[in-house]
Amino acid sequence: ANSSFVHQLADARLTEDEILADPVTKIAALGGARHGSIPLPVDLFRAADGHRNSMGIDLAERDVLEATTKAVRAPVNLSVTPVSTQEVRDAVSRAHAAFPTWRATPVEARADCLDRLADLLERHRDELMAICVQEAKKSIADSIGEVREAADFCRYYAMQARAKMQPIELPGPTGERNMLHMDGRGVWATIAPWNFPLAIFLGQTVAALVTGNTVVAKPAPQTPAIARRAVELAREAGVPADALILVPGGPEVGAALTADARVQGVAFTGSTATAKKIARSLLDDDARPIVPLIAETGGINAMIVDSTALPEQVVADVVTSAFRSAGQRCSALRLLLVQEDIADGLIEMLSGAMDLLTLGDPADPATDVGPVIDQDAYDRLMGYRDSVRERWVKTIDAPADGLFVPPTLIRLGGIEDLNREWFGPILHVATWKAGELEQTIARVNAKGYGLTMGLHSRIARAAEMTEGLAAVGNLYINRSMIGAVVGSQPFGGEGLSGTGPKAGGPHYLYRFCAERAVSVDT
Ligand code: GLU
Repeated sequence: ANSSFVHQLADARLTEDEILADPVTKIAALGGARHGSIPLPVDLFRAADGHRNSMGIDLAERDVLEATTKAVRAPVNLSVTPVSTQEVRDAVSRAHAAFPTWRATPVEARADCLDRLADLLERHRDELMAICVQEAKKSIADSIGEVREAADFCRYYAMQARAKMQPIELPGPTGERNMLHMDGRGVWATIAPWNFPLAIFLGQTVAALVTGNTVVAKPAPQTPAIARRAVELAREAGVPADALILVPGGPEVGAALTADARVQGVAFTGSTATAKKIARSLLDDDARPIVPLIAETGGINAMIVDSTALPEQVVADVVTSAFRSAGQRCSALRLLLVQEDIADGLIEMLSGAMDLLTLGDPADPATDVGPVIDQDAYDRLMGYRDSVRERWVKTIDAPADGLFVPPTLIRLGGIEDLNREWFGPILHVATWKAGELEQTIARVNAKGYGLTMGLHSRIARAAEMTEGLAAVGNLYINRSMIGAVVGSQPFGGEGLSGTGPKAGGPHYLYRFCAERAVSVDT
């Protein structure tokens, strides 16, 4: 049963109808086994530095699939009361008071808390997946990935902290003893998005904690229940109650938090507009210290396809990149740029592949594309989609009730026609002329975002050129553009897409620290 999806398919020689009728074979047929887009059944990888990512669930095992489908439908408590702005101030006071003790706790002990939290996340995986499916409406496969990535962040940052928080003695000509210490800064505010309500919520939070900071954490208003569960588990793992305080609520809670002059740093993932608002609020008060903002925002992510690309692979990767998670990833593909010569054929194949997508209940394993997060998102996306109706190249039917935005392909007159991020399953396509790869990349760069970019080409020179020119944090060549793996594919952008540093990368923790040099004349 553990043989690869592809072999099972090849051996069985199923017809297309047979494949599509069965969720297990359909997941395999749609390319789920590639690039970790469905968690692989075996050890994902063992990186050179000894960090080992956690394991997924093998949905190709029928009994596992059945048990998982049952587990994600279990009743969970989704009701969370938002806090008042007074409670935000109280939370900051408590976190501020807790800082000296937590900072003085040895880094090994703080890192041990993260490792225990990773174990607890895995032990409570089914319950966390159920909350994720029901609250965030993420698909089963995405919910597996969510818990796995959260555990990976904990283990990776624990390992990084043990290695990187040690004092370093610096050589030099001064004749003194020069030491560099990495220290906590104080209270951090972490503000999380609804699209990765556990993984990014915890990633930002545990990075701040393990570096010796205390944290007041605000989940997205759409997804507080999974964050509440994560905080409970963090306590169980040994994080003191006042070192990590959850403040669920809307923008007013976030505004009260970032306006508090005792907050010594903000880690935010969400929209570019909100990141700028936070940056301004941090500078509002002249008396306040200048504090770091780590922002991870959106993008107008392009994939460039030249005439040498393998069309089947392109189509599978485009479908994954643009429509997986209903396009609600900041890494998702928004703008497909195809070399003119192959555009018609490729669009036809892509349209055929879009017909195979199933829209439906996220708790159903046969679902490829679930609903979008809320009514606002639905109205915004559908309003836009309607406004460009004459440019639709392809769309598919969606269930009548529920917040289903039909995956839609929209043809642009040119690259410059798309100037904002549409955070859903809407993909734009434009063409470029042979010999104009360089200019095409430059025109994408000119939009000012810099999160992900894809290239499909079999010409080494094209890859080299793109590597040299693409102003993005994550460039993906001949593969999909989503699903960065902690520790292997540090994730985050530049320009309008964020400040860096990159989540899941070796330099992330430094940004949460105060660096202190001590020089002693011996
Ligand atoms: N890290 C995710 C990925 O690689 C995207 C994160 C986000 O959407 O905020 O797909």
